[in-house]
Order: sequence, then C-alpha cells, then structure tokens
Amino acid sequence: MNFEVAPLPYAKDALEPVMKQETLEFHYEKHHKGYMTRLKSLIEGKPEADKSLVELIRSSSGGVFNNAAQVYNHTFYWDGMKPSGGGAPPAGDVADLINGLGGWEKFRTDFVAAGAARFGSGYVWLVLDGGKGKILDTPNAETPLTTGQVPLLTADVWEHAYYLDHRNNRIGFLEAFCDKLVNWEFVAKNLRSAK
Ligand code: MN
Repeated sequence: MNFEVAPLPYAKDALEPVMKQETLEFHYEKHHKGYMTRLKSLIEGKPEADKSLVELIRSSSGGVFNNAAQVYNHTFYWDGMKPSGGGAPPAGDVADLINGLGGWEKFRTDFVAAGAARFGSGYVWLVLDGGKGKILDTPNAETPLTTGQVPLLTADVWEHAYYLDHRNNRIGFLEAFCDKLVNWEFVAKNLRSAK
C-alpha cells in the first residue's frame, strides 16, 4: 500500500467558519497522519505492507486494524464534506435514498441522534445495506467495510473532531455537519459505484 495520507480535498481554511482551520490542522495533520505513521511502523517490511488499505482492514485485527481503519475513515470523512455543503440533497438518486429514510428532515434528526447516542468515540454513517439506505453508528475505529455494507457518508464523533469548534456540544457539531458541510456529490459517487 501507499504509506501517504491522501491530500485534503480543500484548503484547511475552506470550511471556515463552520469548521475552523485549527480543527483541520490538528485533526488532519496530527490525528489522521498520526494513524498512518503508526500503521507504517506496524507493517512496513512485512507481507501486510503489500495489501491495499481496504484488504488490510478486512484481514487484520488489533493495532493494525485500528490504525488502518482510522486512516480509511478519516479520508472518507474529509471527502464527505465541502465548503457551502449540506442541506437537503438535490433531486436524484441520493434524494430518493434519503426519501426512503423518511425525507431530509427525518434523516437529519436520525443521523444527529445516532451520532449523539454513540457512547465514547466512533462514527455515524449513512450506508447502503442490502440496496437500501441505513443510518448506523460504530465504536472507535470500526467501519462498515467489515460488515458487508457500503459506506456512503460518515461524521467523525471522536471528541477531537469537534472540541475546538463546539467544545462538548456534539449535537451542535452534527447539526452543522448536516446543514453546512455534507458533500452530496460524494454520496452520489459512492452510490453509483455500489450499483
Ligand atoms: Mn478523527
């Protein structure tokens, strides 16, 4: 695998004022790259180093799994946001999927509630499960890649994701994510790839 973290798809100040540049500086430069540094130290020079990141996630456990999944989950999280994003998805396949979950307002309520209810650290996801949309939350580094579901969108609910912007207000962070950050084109691309 390539031991470089993917570049951010926007400048570190591009999500201001919703998400501070300081958040991206710590979350991307320290946390995300830190997981890659630890993964590299665990597998470099070993047979696992020849696997792709996704193959590694699906075949490992313990520290290798945790760090590999965190590398993947963070890239997926960055790609699911954009400046001036969020709000209801535009008409099309993604809007149809969201309507299948009760419509935009219900989706927003349920997505925020799932992220808020995740005790401790983890992620809240929109996934494709048996051809239908589903909201779920996962603990720590866990990812739907290992459970046969197709990830479409995620929000990181580790405290490091929102403390600089929202302090302890995880709900406020998730509402801002839904209303101002979601990149629906990324969700649409993942949905197309799944078909
Ligand atoms: Mn994180």
